[in-house]
Formats: sequence, C-alpha cells, structure tokens
Amino acid sequence: MTTTVSQELLPTGQPLDAARAEGERTYALDRAHVFHSWSAQEQITPMTILASEGSYVWDGAGNRMLDFSSQLVNTNIGHQHPKVVAAIQDQAAKLCTIAPQYANDARSEAARLIAERTPGDLNKVFFTNGGADANEHAVRMARLHTGRYKVLSRYRSYHGGTDTAINLTGDPRRWPNDYGNSGVVHFHGPFLYRSQFHSENEQQETERALEHLDQLIRLEGPNSIAAIVLESVPGTAGIMVPPPGYMAGVREICDRYGIVFIADEVMSGFGRTGKWFAIDHFGVVPDLITFAKGVNSGYVPLGGVAISEKIAATFANRPYPGGLTYSGHPLATAAAVATITAMEDERIVENAARIGSEILGPGLRGLADRHPSIGEVRGLGVFWAIELVADRATKEPLAPYGASSPAMNEVIAACKASGLLPFANFNRIHAVPPCTVTEAEVREGLAILDSVLDIADAHR
Ligand code: PLP
Repeated sequence: MTTTVSQELLPTGQPLDAARAEGERTYALDRAHVFHSWSAQEQITPMTILASEGSYVWDGAGNRMLDFSSQLVNTNIGHQHPKVVAAIQDQAAKLCTIAPQYANDARSEAARLIAERTPGDLNKVFFTNGGADANEHAVRMARLHTGRYKVLSRYRSYHGGTDTAINLTGDPRRWPNDYGNSGVVHFHGPFLYRSQFHSENEQQETERALEHLDQLIRLEGPNSIAAIVLESVPGTAGIMVPPPGYMAGVREICDRYGIVFIADEVMSGFGRTGKWFAIDHFGVVPDLITFAKGVNSGYVPLGGVAISEKIAATFANRPYPGGLTYSGHPLATAAAVATITAMEDERIVENAARIGSEILGPGLRGLADRHPSIGEVRGLGVFWAIELVADRATKEPLAPYGASSPAMNEVIAACKASGLLPFANFNRIHAVPPCTVTEAEVREGLAILDSVLDIADAHR
C-alpha cells in the first residue's frame, strides 16, 4: 500500500493540499508543452514528483515512494543531501558561471578529487554536460591519439543519446538512429546466462568472449581501430558483471593492438558498485574513463572524461579540437566537490558495498528461491537486476528484447501502487537505490518486490 504523508506536509514544509494543486497544474502544463525523451508523446502519463528526500520521492497525490531507481541510477548520495544543496547555494551566491578557458576554484578542486579517485595515471579531467557527450569526447580523443577511425563496443550496452554515443549503444535505441556510417562495430561481451558462446561456466565465457573480440579485431583490421568502449559493468542493458579475467583480457588485447581502452563509468561510477569505480573490482586501468551521474548525483548536469597521461600528452603541444560552453560549470563542479567529500566523510561507498553484500544481494537471491518467475539475479553494491522469465528452463523472457509486455507492465504498475519506484527495462527490474540507502529501506523494498512478484509468477 502507498503511504500518504500523515502530517499533511511535504519535506519542504509545504502543505500537501497546496502542493497537490500545484502538481495538477504541473501535470497539465507538462502534457501541453513538454516533449519527452524516448516516448510516443500521446501515450505517456508522466508521474508528477512534488518533493524528494533521502531514498524517497513524493508523487503528485502526496504518496511517499521508495526510490529504487535513483532517478536513472543517478542520485548516489540520495535526494536533497543538505551538504550538496548548501554547496550549490553557496556557489550560486559567489559565482554562478564562468567560461571554460578561465581557472576556477570549484572546477580545479573537482578535477583534483576525481583524478585522485580514478585508477592509475588518469590525472587530467575534461568536463562535459553529461554522459553522452563524455563518450563523444572520449572517442574523439582516441581517434586523434591513434589516427584511426573505427570504434568497437558491445551489444547489450548503452552509451548515450547523442550521435556517436547512440551509435556506440548496443541496444534497440540505436536502431532508428543508426545510418551505418558511424565507424562503430559491435561485438558480444560475456553474459553467461544468455551466452552467445554456449559456455557452461564463467571461465569458458571469459575465454570465448576474448577470443571472439580478438578475432573481430583481426577481421576488421587492427590498424583501423581507435578504441574499445565498454561499460565496466553494463547497466541499462542488465547489470552483467564481467566474469573474472575478462576486463584484464580486454586491457591486454588493447595493448597488443595499440587500441585505446575507454571504460564507460557513467552509470557504474562514484560508489554505485561499492567501489569508487566499477573497474576497480577488476584491477584494470583503462586509458580513458567517462563519468557523469554519480559524480554529483545529478544535482546539476555534469559529466566528463578522466584522461591518462599518455593520451593527455597527445594534446600537450597540439590543440584539442573540442569544447563546451558549460565545461566545468561552477554550480555543477561545486556540487561534485560537495558530493565526493560527503561520500568520503560519511563512508557512503562502504555503505553501498555492505548493503549489497549483506542485505540487497542476499535479499534478491532469497526472492529468487520463492519466485519461479526470477530467471537470474545479478549485481554488485547497490547495482542489481532481476531478470523475469516466463519459463525458467527455456529462459523465455517475460517481455521480448526491446519491448514491454502486458505482464511486465502489470508488475511495474503494482510496484508503483505499492510505493516502490523501480528502474525497469524490457524483462528486468533493477534494484538501484541510492548508495546511502539504509538496511530498513532495502528491507521495505524487498518486501514490496516479494508481494509484487506473485503477479509475475502467475504469468508463467
Ligand atoms: N553511458 C552510460 C553507461 C549510461 O548509463 C548513460 C545514461 O544512462 C549514458 C552513458 C548517457 O548519459 P547521459 O544521459 O548523461 O547523456
């Protein structure tokens, strides 16, 4: 059951009746004027959000909802963290904007904090407005560094909605955007549950996926390939944690052929997997890391590319031909400084690791014991997916690849009606709460999922 705020006040202190009335106007204006992403405009009914705090948001009727989506896996530090809100307010009072060619304290400090947390010698940071343009620039850097054009990325991936980024993407969102001249070639990454290589165990999957990648490179022509772009743990495509040895093998292949290794950490970075970066789980140092979202929990748009000394040296005495008016925007970078500092001080990355290994992971696996509609549970930290199937033996998904289904729609609607906002994609429900989530909140979410999954079971 949804819980309506009993004291009739939102966390902002606003009376609920007034907020509800405002919410109705907001919804009407949205439907009249806002053009939404990835949607048929006449077929959507966007939920109005009146307020947010910690792990919760309040919908247009004033119902408190547990945010197991972190708003597109974004608010790693939770909603309305007071230190981040204060940092943005202080920065706004001091200096709202400054062009990227000037040195600015918030930008410099954010770059230092990020460079100190990335592995190896990724010591320089180029700031962007979000994740897609971070990938655009990382690819541009790799092409200029190598003098090569082609880029490899995996099927079952998402890299953003702009031109190169959507072409890198290995999911159905690319299909209507791909004109076949992007220079991107896709390959199969490891995914034992739906193995392309008919593997029986992780070791086989690693070996076969690496052999497939190596063969693809030899067939495409190693000297034509600038970069391999890989989510360290693919997120939107299903949170498939790479098996042991795979990422190290990709690093070795890149070194062998002089290919730039770009790790996309837009979704998996900044604590999400229980480490600062997901690549840290594999002891591998890529040449470039792209990031966004968790860097400042999306409080102000920010992304970027962390750059190794080797790639940075390419542009030491040769101009880098790219830039953005808002690169390193003071409000966004001040929010990043406050976010990273609070994550460190409040041991939020450690919280994500502990919650994942002790509560969320075991809890979801426990649901799989009770619900035959769960085909597989995968994840790390506060980055988990459950894959729903119509038949465990055949692994037939509860919604086809690239589509929704009445059964999945029913499950998602039941989650929302029960006070849980999930992140859902095709036949999967992702449990991706903020890294600050408490044990009690996770147990609340698991209990809701437990009741809702009866619906999925009935659809088998
Ligand atoms: N890369 C990954 C792995 C993502 O998950 C996303 C967004 O979800 C992007 C890139 C694109 O980021 P943005 O939406 O900020 O452009």
